[in-house]
Formats: sequence, structure tokens, C-alpha cells
Amino acid sequence: MEYDVAIIGGGPGGSATALALRQQGIDKILVVESGYYQTIRIGESIPPDTRILLEELGILEDFLKENHETCFGSCSSWGNDELGYNDFLFNPYGNGWHLDRRRFNAFLAQKAVERGVELHCGTKVRSCDRVLSEGFQLQLMGEDNQTQVITASFLVDATGIRASFARRLGARKLFLDQLICAIAFFELPPDSHFAKLTLLEAVEYGWWYVAKLPNNKLATVVASEPSMIKDTGLHRMENWRAYLKETKHISKELADCGAIDNLSVSLTPQAKAQDPMVCAAPSFQLDQTTGNGWLAVGDAASAFDPISSQGIYKALWDSLKAAQAIASYFQGDSRGLQEYESLIASRFDNYLTQRNYFYKMEQRWPTSPFWQRRQERTGLEKEELLVVGL
Ligand SMILES: Cc1cc2nc3c(=O)[nH]c(=O)nc-3n(C[C@H](O)[C@H](O)[C@H](O)COP(=O)(O)OP(=O)(O)OC[C@H]3O[C@@H](n4cnc5c(N)ncnc54)[C@H](O)[C@@H]3O)c2cc1C
Repeated sequence: MEYDVAIIGGGPGGSATALALRQQGIDKILVVESGYYQTIRIGESIPPDTRILLEELGILEDFLKENHETCFGSCSSWGNDELGYNDFLFNPYGNGWHLDRRRFNAFLAQKAVERGVELHCGTKVRSCDRVLSEGFQLQLMGEDNQTQVITASFLVDATGIRASFARRLGARKLFLDQLICAIAFFELPPDSHFAKLTLLEAVEYGWWYVAKLPNNKLATVVASEPSMIKDTGLHRMENWRAYLKETKHISKELADCGAIDNLSVSLTPQAKAQDPMVCAAPSFQLDQTTGNGWLAVGDAASAFDPISSQGIYKALWDSLKAAQAIASYFQGDSRGLQEYESLIASRFDNYLTQRNYFYKMEQRWPTSPFWQRRQERTGLEKEELLVVGL
């Protein structure tokens, strides 16, 4: 019941942090995951250089055996009616991947367990209190409603965009943007062909993408402003399909491969029957990603627009840096935490520059509130954006 580190959240950020901590020689690690690995997860593209992080975590070879879908780059209609290609042909690390996210999350968790990490799924944290001598005391409640009290010398918030524990410990989310995504899956007919590229298309009210997943599925996603999703009714399947059919490139690709009428709602068990799955996709940074005896990783520390396809890479990267910081904290040196804090902040600056550049490129709909709002913000400096909030 006494752990060196308790990690709350068993997504890519949490599991990878557990793996990286084991590499740092930290023994008693607990991961508390409120959900289960059978649940559908969103977000599938990882860039070629993720290979370096998987190698550093000591799991590249096993990852490659998992046979996720190869991704050769992206193809987009953005700022222009025609498609432009950005392929990984000349990338020194080779191809990227389109993941079966459910399987990828389960794989990372399994690797952590194989290396001696304790994982509790279906477990909620009922209370989290600071205990002077021991760090934190957590009261956990399992699926059988039994409670258990544990202590941990260090706490990692890996709860994703909720950042539940960092916020409990005083951190605030500094919002840059808030998108809503509506997602559904198509089944590819057997023997049909779909390019191993992420296909992206900007539209007046936002943007769409489609990515081929393992097992002949296609993830199809629209991103827009919360108010526009509501006004257009994109959270309802009949509207979602109608808007999809009006896209120029994505609808054509789906029709050409025979998938357009093959909607597979079975991949979205939690969604109301026949409706797309809807989820928030905010961009934010915490004003404080570390504190005495704790830090946040992955989306809990900073969340990026899904257009960046950086969320999983970022979570793995954080995990390696976080583990180094925690190891030096245990050796009595808290400078590692400060360094981690500034790494997260400077990475957010880079993200901001890239995101602004990308949104500025699209000038076809100057009166569209979606693009106006994104472009208004591209003129602002980070400090101004952060205090604006939403
Ligand atoms: C529409 C969309 C598309 C995306 N596409 C991509 C993409 O193509 N490529 C990419 O890299 N990224 C993408 N992302 C982002 C990516 O999914 C995230 O960045 C990534 O999952 C972050 O990992 P994480 O471990 O930090 O958080 P999460 O994956 O959110 O994991 C957090 C975990 O914590 C658990 N949890 C939460 N609260 C608690 C609690 N109180 N107690 C215990 N457990 C808790 C959750 O159940 C979850 O398992 C996309 C996101 C969206 C919304």
C-alpha cells in the first residue's frame, strides 16, 4: 500500500511514465485507471519519429510486432481547393502509423505491467490528501466498491484533458482554443483500397479528416466550434452524413472505395445509437505543470489541437522527461522539476507558432466565424492568448 509513485490515468502518458520510471530504477509504481482497455479511444496518427521514443522506452521491437497500419504521410486540401501532399518518403525515420488506439493503449499498459508496475483498472480516486511525511494519501475505490488507502511519495497526473489532480493541487488551465469533434467509423469493403495517408479537408465551418485504421476501418472526424456543432447539428448522424457528403475530397475517397454507405457504428458503443461520438478537443497549457511532489504529463499538462497529430508523441516525450525529473527529485534535487516545467512551456510556444501558421494559411472563408476566430487568435502573443481564455 506504499508506493514511490502513484500515476493517475493509464492512457499513453500514464503507462509510458510508468515504463520510464522503471527504467530509472524506481520500483514501487501504481497506475490507477478509471476505465478499461476495451473502451474505444480516439486519436490514431503518430509520426515516424515516435520510433525514437518507443526505442527509448525499450518497447519498439514489440510495438512493431503489433502491426498497426502504416501511414505514409498526409494529403490535404487546406488553403486551396486542390490536394497537396506531405509524405514521409524522405523522412529519415521512415513511415508513421495509424493506430488501433484501443490496442495501443492496452499494449503500453501491458508492457508496464510486465516490467513490474501495478495497474488497477476500473478504479476511482475518491480522495487525495497531502501527508507531510509520505507525500500523498489516496483513497481508491475499485469496481467492487471496496475502498483501499494507499500512500505515494510522488503523484503523477496523467488524467488527460481533465487534469483533475493538477487542478486539485492548484494548477489552472490556460485555454487557447476549444474545438469539438464528431467522429464515426466506416467499414471498408473487403479487397477495397484506401490510401495509407491521412486525408484532411478544410471546410467553411471547420475541417474533416479520415484515416485508415487496422482491421479495415476508417476513422472519420469533423472538428468545429462548439456553437457551430450545435447549430449545424453535426452531432446527429443524419446531419453529419449530409455535411460529409458535401465535402469535395473526403466524400469522393469514401465513395470510390465503397465505404460511404458502410457506416460501422459498432465501434462507438457508448454513443447514442446511430449518432457520431462527440468529444472535446481543447488547446491549453497548465499555468503550473509541477509542484512539490507532483507533476502532470501528456494532455493533463498541455493539450494540442488534433490538427497537430502530436498528442501521443507528446505524451511519450513527457513521460521520458518526467521520469528523469522524478528520479532526481528522489535524490533530493528539485531542479529536474523546474527543468521539466520549462520544457513543457517552451514546447507549447513551438506548438503555438506552428498552429498559428497553419490556421493562417486558410483564407478561403474570410466571413466564416470558425476561421475568423482561429485567425484573430493567430495575431496574439502567447501571454495575451492565455489570459483571454474562452
Ligand atoms: C478527435 C481527436 C483526434 C485526435 N487525433 C490524434 C492523432 O491523430 N494523433 C495524436 O497523437 N493525438 C491525437 N489526439 C490526441 C490524443 O488522443 C491525446 O493527446 C492522447 O490520448 C493523450 O494521452 P494522455 O495519456 O495524456 O491522455 P488520455 O489518452 O486522455 O488518457 C487519460 C487516461 O486517464 C484516465 N482517467 C481520467 N481521469 C481519471 C481519474 N480521475 N482517475 C483515473 N483515471 C482517470 C482516462 O480513462 C484515460 O485512460 C486526438 C484527440 C482528439 C480529441
